Amino acid sequence: GTGQRLPLPEPRELRTLAGAMNDLLDRRDEAADRLRRFTGDAAHELRNPVASIRVQAEVAVAHPDPDLAQEVLAEVAQESQRLSALVDGLLTLARSDAGELPAATAVDLSVAAADAATRCQVPDGPAIVVHHPPAACWVYAAPSEIDLVLDNLLRNAVRYARAQVTLTVLAVGRTARVVVDDDGHGIAEQHRGKVFDRFYRVEDDRARSSGGTGLGLALVAEVVRRRGGAVRVGESPEGGARFQVTWRVASV
Ligand code: ADP
Repeated sequence: GTGQRLPLPEPRELRTLAGAMNDLLDRRDEAADRLRRFTGDAAHELRNPVASIRVQAEVAVAHPDPDLAQEVLAEVAQESQRLSALVDGLLTLARSDAGELPAATAVDLSVAAADAATRCQVPDGPAIVVHHPPAACWVYAAPSEIDLVLDNLLRNAVRYARAQVTLTVLAVGRTARVVVDDDGHGIAEQHRGKVFDRFYRVEDDRARSSGGTGLGLALVAEVVRRRGGAVRVGESPEGGARFQVTWRVASV
């Protein structure tokens, strides 16, 4: 070699280095804690539908009555559906945690919003009113991500609304925004910080019996934040829930 040596660090620089190392270790511990909690919660959530399917099937086998079997099969089908939704949601989150992103492109929010409203409208359910600007409103994301966001927010709003859901697309400076308002009972302030957490539910039983997984809003937050967007929850003018999602406008 040339006989060159790294300069010996000053004590102050050593302290800075030690501080940086400690920050890294803290972050690693937090990530490990998060992973442990997520795995535990996921196992817990999967356990209920699996146990229910098993008990129902055993009942059907033990009592070979066609009427009962029909009833039991209907419940098995419903629980299987929830189980599928849970596994799909977990897979999407796992892929995202691993840094896998679907290919992004420019998506017109106005078109996506109108399509989502048609998909999420239920017969005899609350009306979904869509407002969007006359011009296209481009954001940079995977089309599947935009659909996931709109479908989850609209399906929740439709579930809780009394008579009407409003879906508004608007351009605000360099950002594009989607606002979903409903006229249901809303989300009390103390829950608003937590509804985007994985598996968090305000009313456990009601959400479960409606086929909910507790992953919908966590998925929404995940796919929005990884593209640099933001999600917010508040109160709609009618006193129901208001969800707002903001992305940067894509240049096309
Ligand atoms: P779930 O599968 O239970 O719907 P989400 O993550 O989509 O899971 O929502 C989490 C919880 O937030 C729901 O269980 C519900 O308690 C509450 N929530 C979501 N959307 C609304 C809404 N529009 N009005 C009132 N409560 C809502």
